[in-house]
Amino acid sequence: MSIIVFTENRNGKLKKNSFEAVSYAAVISANTSKPVVAISVGNVDNDELSKLAKYGASKIVAVNDQKWLDHDSREYTKLIAEIAEKENADTFVFSHSNMGKAIAPRLSVRMKAGLLSGVVATPVSFNPIAVKRKTYNGGAFQLVTVKSAKSVITINPNSCSIVEKPVDVNIEAYTPQTAYNAGTKVQAADVVTGKVILTEAPIVVSGGRGLKSGDNWGQLEELATVLDAGLACSRPVSDEGWRSHEEHVGQTGKIVAPDLYIAIGISGAIQHIGGVSGSKVIVAVDKDKDAPIFKYADYGIVGDAFDVVPRLVESFKKFKNS
Ligand SMILES: Cc1cc2nc3c(=O)[nH]c(=O)nc-3n(C[C@H](O)[C@H](O)[C@H](O)COP(=O)(O)OP(=O)(O)OC[C@H]3O[C@@H](n4cnc5c(N)ncnc54)[C@H](O)[C@@H]3O)c2cc1C
Repeated sequence: MSIIVFTENRNGKLKKNSFEAVSYAAVISANTSKPVVAISVGNVDNDELSKLAKYGASKIVAVNDQKWLDHDSREYTKLIAEIAEKENADTFVFSHSNMGKAIAPRLSVRMKAGLLSGVVATPVSFNPIAVKRKTYNGGAFQLVTVKSAKSVITINPNSCSIVEKPVDVNIEAYTPQTAYNAGTKVQAADVVTGKVILTEAPIVVSGGRGLKSGDNWGQLEELATVLDAGLACSRPVSDEGWRSHEEHVGQTGKIVAPDLYIAIGISGAIQHIGGVSGSKVIVAVDKDKDAPIFKYADYGIVGDAFDVVPRLVESFKKFKNS
C-alpha cells in the first residue's frame, strides 16, 4: 500500500501547500510504513520536483503533457485513480485549496474512500485514521475516524508544519493511459502577476465596511506593501464593488490562515470568522470596543481606522528602516 499526495505548482514552481501535503503524508508514512508517492501535473523540472524528497516523497509521478494542463477536476480524478491503482494506494492527501476541494470529493466517491476535508492537524491515530477537522464554519472542531479501507484527506493551508525528512527519490515521467476528455477548453487566461497571493501570504491586511468607501483603500494598500502582505476584505466590501471578489474572505470567499491577520473596520461576523479563524495571530482595529471581532483577536486596537492605519504604516516603515 502507498500514500498518494497530489501536488500543485504555478509557473513550474511547486506551491507551499505541496510541501505541507508531503510533510503531512510523511507523518502517516512514519506510522504505517507506506511510501509517499507525489503526483505532479505540469511543466515542473526534475530539480524542482526533487525538492519534494526533502520532505519525504520517495517517488514522484510526473505528468508533463500539454493537454493535461487545463485543471479539469473530473479528468484529474480519473488520472489520480489510474495512478492509485498502479501504486496500490489507499491514502490520498490534498491541500484544502480550490483544486483539492474540487478533486478530493470526486476521488473519494470513485475510490469508495472516506473523505476527511479541512483537516487541521496530523492524525491522532493511524489504524484507522482519525483526524481533527474544522466544522460549523470554523466554530468547532470534530474528531473523525475513517471507517472505509481507503481515505482521502484535504489539509487546511498553513495548519500543518512543513518538516524536513529527506529520502532518496525516484522520478517517473508518466504518460497517462486515460484519454484527456474534458468538456471544456481554456482558451486564454489572464494571470494576475506581481501581487502577493492571498491564500499563501504569511501576513494578510483586511478591510471591512468600516472603511466607508473603496476610495479609502490607499492606506490599507500602503500597509500591505510595507508588510509584504496580501490584501483581503469582508464580503460587503466586494458586494459594494469597492474591491474585487477575489479579495473577499470568509464562508463564501477564500479561506486564509496566515501567521498574522490584521482586520480593520471588520465587525467579526461568524461568516467572516469562518474564513480567517485558522490565522495564528489576529489583530483587530475597530472603533467599537464591543465589536465581536475583539472576541477572536489576540490583540485589539479600539480606534478610528483613519487615525490608526497611517500610524501603523509610519511605525512599520520606521521599524523596517531601523
Ligand atoms: C450566507 C452568508 C454568507 C456570508 N459570507 C460572508 C463571507 O464569506 N465573508 C464576510 O466577510 N461576510 C460574509 N457574510 C456577511 C456577514 O454576515 C457580515 O454581514 C459581514 O461580514 C460584515 O462585514 P463588515 O464587518 O465589513 O461590516 P460591518 O458588520 O458593517 O462592520 C463594520 C465595522 O467597522 C467598524 N467601523 C466603522 N467605522 C470605523 C472606523 N472609522 N474605524 C474603525 N472601525 C470602524 C464598525 O464598528 C463595525 O464593527 C455572509 C452572510 C451570509 C448571510
